Amino acid sequence: MFAPFIKNNLKFINDYFSLLLNNNKSTFPQSIILYGEDIFAQYLLALNFGKILNCQNTSEFNCNCINCNWITTNSHPAVITVSKLDFKPDNDNSKTVISVKQTLALKNLLATTSEYHRIFIICDADIKTPNKNEKEKISILKSNNFSFPYEDEEHNKFWIPKGLNQKVFQEESANSLLKVIEEPPPRTSFIFLTKDKTDLIETIISRSQCFYVPSKYMQDNDLTIIFDTLKFYPEINPFEIGDIATTLINQSDTLNLEPEELFTKFQQFIKKTALNNTDNPTYVAKMLDDINTLNKAQMQLKSYIKPQAALENALFSIYKNWT
Ligand SMILES: [Zn+2]
Repeated sequence: MFAPFIKNNLKFINDYFSLLLNNNKSTFPQSIILYGEDIFAQYLLALNFGKILNCQNTSEFNCNCINCNWITTNSHPAVITVSKLDFKPDNDNSKTVISVKQTLALKNLLATTSEYHRIFIICDADIKTPNKNEKEKISILKSNNFSFPYEDEEHNKFWIPKGLNQKVFQEESANSLLKVIEEPPPRTSFIFLTKDKTDLIETIISRSQCFYVPSKYMQDNDLTIIFDTLKFYPEINPFEIGDIATTLINQSDTLNLEPEELFTKFQQFIKKTALNNTDNPTYVAKMLDDINTLNKAQMQLKSYIKPQAALENALFSIYKNWT
C-alpha cells in the first residue's frame, strides 16, 4: 500500500492508515494536518494517500493503473498541490502568498463533480538550487516513484516543499476555506503540511485530524509500560483514571521517556490490540478513534497542557468511546 520510505521510517503512520484504508476508504478524513520537521516526508505521504484513494486496482504500491501513473508523474487531475507557486489562476499575480483568488478557484473546482477522490495538498514551496540535504530528499522521493510538481534538471532548479505558516497562508485565505473543509463534497480531502501546529490558525486546526510525522522513527517497541498499566484495555475504570495517569507519568519519568513518546507507545499498544481484532470492524473503528484521541492529546502537549491532564482527558475520552 505505502511506499518503502513510509513503510520503513513512518511505521506508525503506515500501520494506522493501512488499517483505516483497508477497513473502509470512505472514512478517510476530510481534513488532515501533517506536522513535524520533515516536510518532504509529509509531501510524499500526501501523494501516497492520493494514490491509494484513486487506484483502480487493489492499491498495491507498484500498481500501474492510469491513476497511479498520473500520480507518479505528479500530473493527476484530482491530486492537486496548492502553494504560493502552484494552482495559480491566470488573473492572480501574487507570488508570496496562497491568495484568496486561489481559494476561490479551488471552491469553483469543487462545485463541479469528479469521478476521483480529490486531494488538495496545501503547503509552501520554493523553486531553487537544492542544498545537499534537499538533494538527498529529492532522490528519496524519486526512488519511491513520486515526483514534485516542477523540476529543471538541466539548470539544477527544483521545486522544494516547505511548511505552511501564517505569513504565506494568511487568515483571510485560510478562513475562506473553512466551510469547504468542514463540509466538503464527498471524496474530497485537504492535507496541510506544516512544521508546527501553531503555524496554522486555530479554526483550521479544530476542523482537522492532526498527525505527527516523526523525522526519525522511534525504534524502541517495548510496550511493557503500557501493558502493565492498561492490560484490560479497552476496559477502563473511570474511577481509576487519575491513578492510571499518575502511574504512567511516573514510570515514564523513571525511564526517561518524553510524554510524547509515552503517548506514541500507547497508540502502538492500541494498534497492536486492533490488529488482533481485525475480524471485528466495530472494535477496530473504535480503536482507531482512540488512536486519534491520543493524537489530540499529543497536540495538547504542544500547547503546554500538563502531561497528566492531557493523559487524563484522553483516558476519559477512551472510556466514553466504549460505553
Ligand atoms: Zn493503481
